[in-house]
Amino acid sequence: MRGKPNCPVIAIEEHYWDPDITSNYAGVEAFRDPEMLKRLHDLGEYRISHMDKAGVDMQVLSHGAPSLQKLGADKAVDLAKRANDRLATACQKYPTRFAGFAALPTDNPTAAAAELERCEKTLGFKGAMIHGLSNGEFLDEPKFDPIWAMAEKLDVPIYLHPSVPHPNVTDVYYKKYMQEYPMVIRAAWGFTVETATIAIRMVLGGVFQRHPKMKLILGHFGETLPFLVWRIDQALSRPGQKSMSFRQVFSNNFYVTTSGNFSNPALLCTMMEMGIDRILFAIDYPFVNNEEGMEWIPNMPLCDEDKIKLLSGNAKRLLKL
Ligand code: CA
Repeated sequence: MRGKPNCPVIAIEEHYWDPDITSNYAGVEAFRDPEMLKRLHDLGEYRISHMDKAGVDMQVLSHGAPSLQKLGADKAVDLAKRANDRLATACQKYPTRFAGFAALPTDNPTAAAAELERCEKTLGFKGAMIHGLSNGEFLDEPKFDPIWAMAEKLDVPIYLHPSVPHPNVTDVYYKKYMQEYPMVIRAAWGFTVETATIAIRMVLGGVFQRHPKMKLILGHFGETLPFLVWRIDQALSRPGQKSMSFRQVFSNNFYVTTSGNFSNPALLCTMMEMGIDRILFAIDYPFVNNEEGMEWIPNMPLCDEDKIKLLSGNAKRLLKL
């Protein structure tokens, strides 16, 4: 069980920043140190040198949060095209090292669906990443259905990634601790609650009934949902609820990654609830160091066959790499 099997390592929640996008968010760059900014803005040799040093064969690249999800369609539609074209150039330059997830202008769902199609057919992208609420709106609203319909038609997954919670939520739930612990609204807790809530609402809102072949990827071992699926499913089956099987949707439509959560207990729980075929490797570079993810691999409590699936086999199948 110990050791790393002889297989490629494909990490699928690896981020970069496009200055054309981040310039729309005041102060976002000031929050980060110079080395982090250098890593985020690099889509070339510097990034590959870090991958080589740690042993990461391929990164599936996505823009970091909030990408285009906090921008109105007036800006986001054109910006998406420019940013996706630039990402495609990097992927074309290093076709064995980089693949891409599209950034989508979700504020205009029809344009977002068209951009997803363009990115898959013309740029060779493997799906798209959406970061939290779309310009303040929950993704279970039927207006977003064109995006899910296109993902189904193209048979590409949508990666639902966290973003900073709605300002009303941060104000009521986290304000007291935000100064001393800025991560409390982010990776430590706020991200997870926000993203799991959006995913649950998508199930309750019937997104997967309307789009039964839609594939949704969640990072961070499913934002706690594998740990809680029994209880969520049981509670939603109690009298007084509309008839619906949460577990069925969760088992049919959801995939999860290991991004930034290199925990053996979390891995075992997720595997017991979802099966190894639905777990994909991710690191969350550069917010998490490649080495942290790679050093975990020898200690995963998995046989080689399952490790190979997790490290690249499942990604090759789901993303058609
Ligand atoms: Ca991330």
